[in-house]
Amino acid sequence: MFQNTLEYAKQQDSQDPLASFKKKFHIPKNASGEDLIYLCGNSLGLQPVLTSEYIKEELQDWANLGVEGHVQGKHPWLPYHEFLTKNMAKIVGAKPSEVVVMNTLTTNLHLMMVSFYQPTKTKYKIVIESDAFPSDKYAMESQLKYHGVDPKDGLILWKPREGEELCRFEDLEEIMSENGDEIALLMIGSTNYYTGQSFPLKKITDLGHKYNCKVGFDLAHGAGNIQPDLHDSGADFAVWCTYKYLNSGPGSLGGCFVHERHANNKDLNRFAGWWGHNKDTRFNMRKDFDALPGAEGWQLSNPPILSMAAIRASLDTFAEAGFENLRKKSIKLTGYLEFLLDEMKNDAINVITPRNPEERGCQLSIQVKNADRNLHNKLTDAGVISDWREPDVIRIAPTPLYNSFEDVYKFSEKLTQVLKK
Ligand SMILES: *Cc1c(COP(=O)(O)O)cnc(C)c1O
Repeated sequence: MFQNTLEYAKQQDSQDPLASFKKKFHIPKNASGEDLIYLCGNSLGLQPVLTSEYIKEELQDWANLGVEGHVQGKHPWLPYHEFLTKNMAKIVGAKPSEVVVMNTLTTNLHLMMVSFYQPTKTKYKIVIESDAFPSDKYAMESQLKYHGVDPKDGLILWKPREGEELCRFEDLEEIMSENGDEIALLMIGSTNYYTGQSFPLKKITDLGHKYNCKVGFDLAHGAGNIQPDLHDSGADFAVWCTYKYLNSGPGSLGGCFVHERHANNKDLNRFAGWWGHNKDTRFNMRKDFDALPGAEGWQLSNPPILSMAAIRASLDTFAEAGFENLRKKSIKLTGYLEFLLDEMKNDAINVITPRNPEERGCQLSIQVKNADRNLHNKLTDAGVISDWREPDVIRIAPTPLYNSFEDVYKFSEKLTQVLKK
């Protein structure tokens, strides 16, 4: 149904109900002032036009009100995190009480491990996917060591089979049937950052729970990309960042999900801080810690409002577009990229991301035989912002909010030219 022409791509853009959202973002430009083809939203999302306006409002309230901004600001800072919750919960498929924006991803991962990784002498192992993002692996290894476990013994990798790139669910089932009694936690990236493979969250959760394990997900590449349905998956916890698909700026705050069945469980270990304490007595500094119910009870500090203003701007942009509409466009846009790559009929390139749209988000990971970083540099010179991963993979992420069919078409043209050289 797709066609390999610029006219077709332009025609798709003209029929795209979300096409106008490109104008709601700052698109990076080359030295001559022309838009670059930005296909790197999986690494750092672009800046919504609304962002500076939202941040300026907070700067203005701070200038005009000083400390009174906590209660008298247009968006008072005391409850500011609450202004993000409803839209964020929608994006990850959770109930508002299950979601909070706080800290950064790896910090939240450690905080969740304090509560949900409670190893015993016999049940202490952790399963992760073998190509997990390095930070996640370091976090798991350091948690194992902290509990006196040698990571060589305690960390089980869910690996692709010899000669394959993707993880198979059957192999996770086998790991569980062989080691389930010794495993305490499954911690999986919902969408793998390298291959772009999205895992079935509910199936993995059910499997882990069958063996009495806790199950957590890292949605760094899932939030704002796929529809994770966290609540229905039954996962115990999840963490994510907001600077990739959620367009909230470099190093911006992370999100955290705690399933509602844990909302009032005061027996869980947790590292506490005043922002997780009962709001009514938070400023009565002499009270014993009284955790807020739900995910909010895991907060530590009063949060950076300027970063939260950026998240609010981004979430408002998402809400305006509607997540279902975005996902619909995303499936088509990435399908178009896949079609154009197939049309190249070049044996040197191989898409390692799953072919089934249900098993991926917008990213396609393209393995290029005998290529090195030079290929990526040539694409950059040709005006394409993409992402290179050693040894031989370019990751291309057409995001439905600000990428067009024309972007995807022009990328395929430039890739064809660069590969010919
Ligand atoms: C981007 C990413 C991170 C980054 O962690 P920060 O704590 O936000 O620096 C961690 N894990 C995964 C899977 C990621 O994709």
